[in-house]
Amino acid sequence: MRRAIFPGSFDPLTNGHLDIIKRSAPLFDEMIVAVLNNPDKLPMFTVEERCGMIREVLPDVDTNDCSMLVESFSGLTADFARKRRATAIVRGIRAVSDYEYELRMALMNRRLEPEIETVFLMAGEEYSYVSSTLMKQVFELGGRVEGLIPELVEARMREKKN
Ligand code: ADP
Repeated sequence: MRRAIFPGSFDPLTNGHLDIIKRSAPLFDEMIVAVLNNPDKLPMFTVEERCGMIREVLPDVDTNDCSMLVESFSGLTADFARKRRATAIVRGIRAVSDYEYELRMALMNRRLEPEIETVFLMAGEEYSYVSSTLMKQVFELGGRVEGLIPELVEARMREKKN
């Protein structure tokens, strides 16, 4: 059983995240989208809202027989991965700017849990500039984000704004 976790804030889920899920799913039997409950950040959506949206969107995603689970966690990603008996941590890399941070995290996680590998996927070209933060900023200022985030997420963002 090859189980991976795909950890992140997902505040909110973007098509860039979905692209990573779609492309990494065939590598594993089971994948847990692990939504970090980070008390230091003031999120747009609560952890429950974020998990709920991902659960609603995932059935429409072709994950190639990989079972998908959505769970929240707090604390160390490496601890969560070990507790859930995952052998891989999936992360996406968009630009060189992501690389330094991701490298540090991957090396630290390897030190904490040597049995767990971090697997990096390069972002899809069309989503390589998409981040949750940028989507929130553009949306707040009235810009168009269609095609970059799932429709359901956009609708929830609109509800939040009103
Ligand atoms: P975190 O706060 O842990 O970076 P994010 O939700 O921002 O959480 O990102 C989760 C993971 O998804 C990270 O590995 C990030 O690099 C990746 N990711 C985010 N946006 C994209 C994108 N547009 N394309 C590919 N990977 C992405």
